[in-house]
Formats: sequence, C-alpha cells, structure tokens
Amino acid sequence: MSEDKSTIEKTLAPSQFSVFDSHSHPGLEKKGIKDRPGCLDFWCGDSVVARSMMGARAALGDPNPFKIIHTAEECPDWNPERWVKILDASGVEATCLQAINSVSDPYPGNANGWKWHVPNEYVKKEFIDAFPGRFTAVGGVHPRYGRKAAVEMVLSAYECGFPGIKIHTPTSGYPNNPDLYPAYEKCQELGMHVQIHTGVEELPGTRAKYQDPVYIDDVAMDFPKLKILQLHCGVFNNPRIALWNVIKFENVYTDITIPHPTLMHMKYYWDLEHLRFLETLMPDKVFFGTDFPLTLPIYKFMIDYINCLPLTADFKRKLMGDNFRKFLNWKEAKGQGQASTAGSMI
Ligand SMILES: [Zn+2]
Repeated sequence: MSEDKSTIEKTLAPSQFSVFDSHSHPGLEKKGIKDRPGCLDFWCGDSVVARSMMGARAALGDPNPFKIIHTAEECPDWNPERWVKILDASGVEATCLQAINSVSDPYPGNANGWKWHVPNEYVKKEFIDAFPGRFTAVGGVHPRYGRKAAVEMVLSAYECGFPGIKIHTPTSGYPNNPDLYPAYEKCQELGMHVQIHTGVEELPGTRAKYQDPVYIDDVAMDFPKLKILQLHCGVFNNPRIALWNVIKFENVYTDITIPHPTLMHMKYYWDLEHLRFLETLMPDKVFFGTDFPLTLPIYKFMIDYINCLPLTADFKRKLMGDNFRKFLNWKEAKGQGQASTAGSMI
C-alpha cells in the first residue's frame, strides 16, 4: 500500500489551531467616534464604504441596516468587548489593529483633503492594554506634514509599543515619496516593520494611482533590511506585480486581506488555484487578514472556509497564524502587553 497520506490526512489538521488575524480596523466603535476624524464616514452617508458596512450593521442587530444614517447616535453599538467575543467565538487568538493617520489630496468639496485618524494612544488604551494578548497594532504615518512630522509619527508608534507602522497610500500618496524615507530609516533603526496599502480603496479623496504595488519595488530596493508587509496584495489594481514583489524581495511579505472574499470570489484572491500558487511560491511569506469589522457578517465563515480547502494542513497553519506570529516575533513580545494566549481555541 502507498506510504502517501490520503487527501484527508494531508489537508485536515489533526487538532484545531488558533488563528492570528493580521489585519483589522479599530476606530469605528460608537464611544467617541466623532473625535476620531473620518471614522463616522464608515457608517454614515450614502457612500460605497457606508453601504459596505451595512452587512456589519445587520450582524450587529440593526433592524433596518439599509437605511442611510447620518449621526453618531445612529451608529451601531460597536465596542471592544463585542470584538473580543467574536474573536473567542471564531477561534482567533489575536489580531493586528491598523491605527491610522492620513490625509488625502484636496478634491472638489474638500480643499483640505479627507482626514482619517485613529490615534495610537486610543488603540493602546482601549484594545491592547484592556485585553492583554488579544491585540497588537501598527501606527499610522503620513508625509503630508513633512519629514520631521513623519518621523515623529513613527516614534509615537514606537512609544506605544507597536511593532510597526502603516502607510495608507490611497490617501497619503506614493510610498516611495522621499519625504517618507527618514521615517523608514527610523523604523529600520528601531526594528519596526512597515505595512503599505496596495490595491483599490473606496474611501473619500483616495486616488488609485498611489495604490499600485509597483512603487513598493522602489522601497524594497532602497531598504533591503526593512521588513515590508504589502497589504491587500494589489487587489483589483495590480495583483501580479504584488505577487512578484514577494517573490523578488526577501524583505517583502503580503496578506490576503480583501473585503468579502467569499462573495467577491476573485481570481487572484481566495480561489483554490491562487492559494495553491501562494503555497508553492511563498508559503512562509503570506498572512491571513480580514479587514474586520468590514467582514463581520462572515468572520467565522472566512476561517472555516480556508480550513476546509484542500490545501496542506502545514500551509494552513502557516497562513492562518504561524507566519504572522514569526513576522512579529509574537512570543518574544510576551510581557510587553502582547502576551500570547496560544492554545485558547474553541
Ligand atoms: Zn484594511
């Protein structure tokens, strides 16, 4: 008889493993939402993003989720406690929160550009410190106020104990902007990584040209020792170059984060052929992420879906958590407000 394992043995993990969600968004919580610029626009108004969030409103119990809402009072009662309950129910050990600091180009009707700001201190206090071991975060950095201010944004993230920073390119502009280079140098010096958004974005004031992953090529060339996480793998924009970046550069990683991946079942994302491509060419450099709470209505289903695909159990374990834990040195972060709770699975 063949020594080869059966399909079932190869693809089903012998025991459940806890997931690490590498990509989620704080700031949309009801408490104090008006104080965080841009966050109200996720729930309110007749926009693409507010319509996308209708699914989350429905999942949070809004009896009329398709009604356009306009005020903070009408926002759903979303809070960190509910978030943790969903992590628990979905077998997710922890998630990396995207604190954001960004300003878009000016556009008709908004001469100052659209601001999106989820402060580092807010994320640290309400999530990381309140629920040890369940959250980590990256701090928002943009170059709109100059090089010195961008470096100060890096230092703010560092002082909060965050392992990295995030550049939201659709608002903040090209990631190879020389005004960001001192911030990258500072990250390198402090041992922090850089997350860079690639792929399309529907938020106000965003411009598609900035999101092309081709500009990551420059950053990776100029900072070969800087760990770069390419967010969204160039979705709808240029996924092929995004994949090439990961193959070409030792220091470039990617997530597979995409809103509603199982509804928008697209060629370069969650289909089996594509995931097998990732397994073959970059099995240690790809991370599961969700854009939660945008994906709140299907959160557990997303995890179950990947776990049921005929990929090897070894790759699933890496994709769903171990690769990102290694990227963050998650275990080494114990005792710094980021203690691992590995083993807490459902
Ligand atoms: Zn995101």
